[in-house]
Amino acid sequence: MEHRELIEEVKGHFYWLHRHPELSGEEFGTTEYLKKALAAHNIPVYPLPLSTGLVAYVGQGNPVIAFRCDIDALPIQEESGLDYSSEYPGRMHACGHDFHAAALLGIAMALQNDNSLSGTVKLIFQPAEETLGGARRILETGVLDEVQVIYGLHCCAAYPVGTVISRPGFMNGAVDEFRIDFLGRGAHACRPHTAADPVIMIGNFVQAAQTIVSRNVNPFHPLLVGISHIEAGTAKNIIPEKGVAEGTIRSLYPEDRKLAKERLGSLARSIAESFGGSADVHITDGSPATNNTPEWVSLVEQVARKLGMPFVSAPDSLSGEDFAFYQQKIPGAFIQIGTGIGPMMHNPAFRANPDALEPAVQFGARLVREALEKLKNVESC
Ligand SMILES: [Zn+2]
Ligand SMILES: [Zn+2]
Repeated sequence: MEHRELIEEVKGHFYWLHRHPELSGEEFGTTEYLKKALAAHNIPVYPLPLSTGLVAYVGQGNPVIAFRCDIDALPIQEESGLDYSSEYPGRMHACGHDFHAAALLGIAMALQNDNSLSGTVKLIFQPAEETLGGARRILETGVLDEVQVIYGLHCCAAYPVGTVISRPGFMNGAVDEFRIDFLGRGAHACRPHTAADPVIMIGNFVQAAQTIVSRNVNPFHPLLVGISHIEAGTAKNIIPEKGVAEGTIRSLYPEDRKLAKERLGSLARSIAESFGGSADVHITDGSPATNNTPEWVSLVEQVARKLGMPFVSAPDSLSGEDFAFYQQKIPGAFIQIGTGIGPMMHNPAFRANPDALEPAVQFGARLVREALEKLKNVESC
């Protein structure tokens, strides 16, 4: 297939996917569409027990690597003004997962035409990245058991088209969510001595929770305890019975993650008790921190340089990314590619410039070839 024709087809896939965004775990139409697009190029798909998402492959034999994209959209009303905007009210590809899926289709098509590929690449079209769970579902199928190296690609609205961004070590943070219900005793506002006031509990808890970062964790370790939602009461003259505080804990090091969760729970419980109430603490574990293998990041940098694409070291970030689940088992790296500077991901005005598809496909296909070559050389040593 001629290069220009391939890129035009990939852009067509991107526009279709952008018009038809589906939420996490509900990517039925998207999965059907991707299967048809792969079948049209004789790219096989593994028969896996997945209700949405899929894993295809190109090449044969060892070594085996994997390349992951995600396919889910967000519950956001699109305001990008694009002529290929979402056709579904209240849903939008605001994190560029349509771009990732189209780029991975292009990478698959480019490699399918390449008889010199020295091994196998498994192409993961992962569901449910935004709500987590998608990476674990793919891992549970066992389809990645033989994989030696894994790469993941995400767009980035902070860099010009075609910039390649990565870094060795931590690139995203572990993100855990918490909800704490403070349970007290309600009363008329004029009789506070008969109440156990959850507003007082929450007020003290919000202050105390900040000491986890400032007093419990090594000051050279990044940690964030954020309380973003508090709620209690219904009227000016009623002391409420209960209140709630919700937020996230973002960390890099597993020992800090564990300690922050424990301290948060014990502070909430002891503060609630000291004011005559109690606290129900619910902490939901999210993804761990992405942690890139230096050796495989160097290859990313080398391939970018060979293709004349600028390589930038990824800035510090405690955003979450469930690619980290793969990295707990398989070495590899998470990579971002610049899709033009503009409103950031998860913003209703977000747009990924389709011109970035060509460098993304070229870069991804070359990276796969070189990673397989590198593994082959190691094996034959
Ligand atoms: Zn996102
Ligand atoms: Zn995303």
